[in-house]
Amino acid sequence: AFRRNQLQTISRAPAQPRKPQKSRENVKDLINLIVVGHVDAGKSTLMGHLLYEMEFVDSRTMEKYKHEAARSGKSSFAYAWVLDETEEERERGVTMDVARVSFETDTKRICLLDAPGHKDFISNMITGTSQADAAILVINGTRGEFETGFENGGQTKEHALLLRSLGVTQLIVAVNKLDTVDWSRDRFEEIKNNLSVFLTKQAGFANPRFIPVSGLSGENLTKKTTEIPWFNGPCLLESIDSFVAAKLPISGPLRIVVSDVLKVQSAQLILSGKIESGEIEKDDKVYIMPSVTAATVKACSNTISNTEQCLAGDHVLLTLAGTFEPDSIQTGSVVVRAGPDTLIPARRFLVRLVVFDILTPIIKGSTAELYAHSICVSCTFSKLNHSINKSNGEILKLKPRFLAKGTSAIVEIETDQDVAIEPFTKCRSLGRVTFRSGGKTIAAGIVENVL
Ligand code: GDP
Repeated sequence: AFRRNQLQTISRAPAQPRKPQKSRENVKDLINLIVVGHVDAGKSTLMGHLLYEMEFVDSRTMEKYKHEAARSGKSSFAYAWVLDETEEERERGVTMDVARVSFETDTKRICLLDAPGHKDFISNMITGTSQADAAILVINGTRGEFETGFENGGQTKEHALLLRSLGVTQLIVAVNKLDTVDWSRDRFEEIKNNLSVFLTKQAGFANPRFIPVSGLSGENLTKKTTEIPWFNGPCLLESIDSFVAAKLPISGPLRIVVSDVLKVQSAQLILSGKIESGEIEKDDKVYIMPSVTAATVKACSNTISNTEQCLAGDHVLLTLAGTFEPDSIQTGSVVVRAGPDTLIPARRFLVRLVVFDILTPIIKGSTAELYAHSICVSCTFSKLNHSINKSNGEILKLKPRFLAKGTSAIVEIETDQDVAIEPFTKCRSLGRVTFRSGGKTIAAGIVENVL
């Protein structure tokens, strides 16, 4: 009851007067990009080679990787090491950790989410996808391999469904390893035709763009090549450049998702996070949800530009003053302000979801782990409200007894603890949820309403 009163007081507080609206001048639009695809499709090699061609690493370092890779009998992995090295660096230093890998194209800044190559790829992918504006789906074009990745058990479909059900609409399909089939146009078209049907009809991508590439030999990454005379489209880099940035709500309510709590003391807290909406500066008064902890900003810095400008889309490092209980603030907590736009933690909410390829259907009372931005909590499907038509949202069946694979539905979810989430229409990244059970993703969707 005390907490409820406290939340009421916070939400009834007047909106804090904000300084004249800030904007980001002379800065390229930011695209948060995720790279997905079946294991061994060549994600790390492709992105590593692209980064190398963009001079992310110098040629001496690259020679060193090639040499070391050859010596350890894994010469084909040299480009993947460009990303691995960054991974190690990220583990060593705080700044690298939150900055992620970023690079620039002609008109965009690209932030590469969760550099591929992790072991626990799907759960990393979920965290990554929940922040993504756009995606590259890497397909292994080698004969037989595309088919493996695409059939039952392969990850291609699951990744594509996950992206789409979490609200990612822009997709490039990199048909990779085409060097292994002599740049066969027929093979490219075969994959494109098969995959297009699935991506547009089942997953619901309006306009996936297919690009033939080789991550290993480097064709069509940053420049067009003569190897593929039959392809008139853009190279990979040009396609990435033409992604459209999500409109960042700088003037929107403050939402900073905590990605890491770096230091907790009774009166001081240092954390890293991503500003999903709004802006923050020194001396601001904030609250951290769901624990409803009041704090004052003592310092904030943008970990990519190393400046104090901290606006929606930025990764930031915050030093806060207040009274902090150990463990009350965690990865997945959200920094907000008091006022009508504050975030009220939720325990029951409506989700519009898509059910993945599962053997046991979801029934009322089924339990799962719920993933949203950077949180993971236990939850129950407490009501199955109705199943819906994927393409137009029409109600198909009221109160279905179960949800089988492929179904779209509106369901009521209950969590066993308060979580900082809200409707997708209010804040995209706080409104995307994924459900896992028995080590598999069983469904994903967006929060429609908090009850
Ligand atoms: P990931 O698991 O999707 O990140 O795949 P990797 O990037 O680790 O690549 C898996 C294997 O495929 C490695 O041996 C790569 O050298 C190889 N590979 C990646 N891209 C290509 C390509 O375009 N052509 C060929 N022939 N091999 C590739």
